[in-house]
Amino acid sequence: MAGEYAAFHRRSIEQRDAFWREQAQLVHWHRPFSQVLDYSRPPFARWFVDGQTNLCFNAIDRHLDTRADQAALVYVSTEVDQEKRYSFAELHVEVNRCAAILQSLGVARGDRVLVYMPMIPEAVFTMLACARIGAVHSVVFGGFASHSLATRIDDARPKVVVSADAGMRAGKVVPYKHLLDEAIRASAHPPEKVVLVDRGLDPGMPRTPGRDLDYAQLHAAHANADVPVVWQESNEPSYILYTSGTTGKPKGVQRDVGGYAVALAASMKHVYCGRPGQTMFTTSDIGWVVGHSYIVYGPLIAGMTTILYEGLPIRPDAGIWWRIVQDCRVNVMFSSPTAIRVLKKQDAAHLSRHDISSLERLFLAGEPLDESTHRWISDALRIPVIDHYWQTETGWPILTAVPGVEQTPIRFGSPSFAAFGYDLRLLREADASEAGVGEKGVVAIVPPLPPGCMSTIWGDDERFVRTYFSTFSTRQVYSTFDWGVRDADGYHFILGRTDDVINVAGHRLGTREIEEAISAHPNVAEVAVVGMADQLKGQLPIAFAVVKDAAQIADAAQCAAAEKEVMATVDRLLGAIARPGRVHFVNMLPKTRSGKLLRRSIQALAEGRDPGDLTTLEDPTALDQIRAALQGG
Ligand code: AMP
Repeated sequence: MAGEYAAFHRRSIEQRDAFWREQAQLVHWHRPFSQVLDYSRPPFARWFVDGQTNLCFNAIDRHLDTRADQAALVYVSTEVDQEKRYSFAELHVEVNRCAAILQSLGVARGDRVLVYMPMIPEAVFTMLACARIGAVHSVVFGGFASHSLATRIDDARPKVVVSADAGMRAGKVVPYKHLLDEAIRASAHPPEKVVLVDRGLDPGMPRTPGRDLDYAQLHAAHANADVPVVWQESNEPSYILYTSGTTGKPKGVQRDVGGYAVALAASMKHVYCGRPGQTMFTTSDIGWVVGHSYIVYGPLIAGMTTILYEGLPIRPDAGIWWRIVQDCRVNVMFSSPTAIRVLKKQDAAHLSRHDISSLERLFLAGEPLDESTHRWISDALRIPVIDHYWQTETGWPILTAVPGVEQTPIRFGSPSFAAFGYDLRLLREADASEAGVGEKGVVAIVPPLPPGCMSTIWGDDERFVRTYFSTFSTRQVYSTFDWGVRDADGYHFILGRTDDVINVAGHRLGTREIEEAISAHPNVAEVAVVGMADQLKGQLPIAFAVVKDAAQIADAAQCAAAEKEVMATVDRLLGAIARPGRVHFVNMLPKTRSGKLLRRSIQALAEGRDPGDLTTLEDPTALDQIRAALQGG
């Protein structure tokens, strides 16, 4: 990598303080910071120490003088056939009312508020209202079911949960409140109050008197609310967002206030090239990190209009996104490779039916972008399509092209270069030495992590260090748990995970979590879940289960019924997103003589690769069974 961006990146590492002091000017500080970085307790980084700011102020209030009437939030729902537009001034009013509601329920600085909501404006109001009063939001993706939700409630211990009667997916009602009630019943630390947006989608919504409150009633009671911004020290927590790992217990990624604001503002300018007054359309969900950073906070901090889309990419037809681009004059778009692969299967004419001339760039992330999909969408749109790589933990891109600094050529299948602020290395697994050109290595970041990245794991500093900074015994570096390789021109390619985490349609799932859910089925003795390559979704979980009572799966019909039951168990506990594509029943799982599951060998077989060194295998016929199950289809 040479040229203007290389120099920009080098400066971000070698003159770190000066670089970030400059970027910090992109946001408003109520009180200036006294120190750019406090790194006295590695690997914990404290950015913009003593500085006071507020995410909600930066996202809304700061723009009121110059763009009060400009659209801030445009809600488009093809599920309930509705469109609503909120100017910055109107968003300010809504967020103030929501902040007043939360305060009236006793929510104060540092308290947690769990948001379990469909893609509706009230979800965005709630997030921004939390930010306004210094409360910590924890948004849980609406596709997660009761067990996932209960785990998150118990870890975050929210004072209040904000939810809705239901969401809609593909025209079908998805009842949220029933799942929430189930989760609260299973929780050891239930919330004091539940605020419900009643969309009228689920007339049978159960309500618990005294605990459950109606958003519309509270909203009416707080007309003309004017809630002062709570100025937070830069390192106070802004939110928790859970992500899967190799254990059954999801990790609460904790983010700060000031560092996050600066990282988002800097990325909006240099990476996404979003200018104030322009429009951004990010097709993710507020339940994911992409939704936090680039549906809610990033575009608003940049003074842009953001689109909140509730619906599928192919309903009413595969032209819906391009219609939105046309109608809202979208300039910057952000989506996922799976979504593009879905569109690729549809009639290409949808792309030419709309005037998408406003669109300047499309960004894709969340999973590997295969070369042919990258090429297809680039040819179809005739604008730069930028693959970029990041994680829930980092909150903004790690590897990306940075067109706001330099228009570097795009290489299909590559997320280009390390983003500014990231001292990125590819390290050999054996000894943490640097891998050469073309040699595979673990994608690692030399700490301190740049602003915007996770500060710690909620409530568990020790786990933060142990999980992310202990891959190599000789060197304390942050591991992404991804393999990567760099070519002679400095372009990076991501080659897959180093751990047992799988990626389904851009969503990270822990195989251990799915195994635990399947084990809840009364007839499952033990189970192994691995990821299998899938043309559309990248990967799909598949399960190999040993049953307790073989008589219950004696014939093909019983097997099929048992498979359905196991899938339903996963749906109920984790959500359909984690449902295995197949459940195969075997008599035993391949294990070492010491009883350790040979998951990597199963994974290799599932992907048609050599299962590797099997000398420690206790019973070789176990692998034959896996092979036979896979061949049997
Ligand atoms: P999540 O935190 O759920 O967004 O998942 C992050 C993981 O998704 C990364 O560690 C990668 O394994 C994968 N990932 C994200 N973006 C990309 C990309 N552009 N190319 C390849 N893998 C990606």
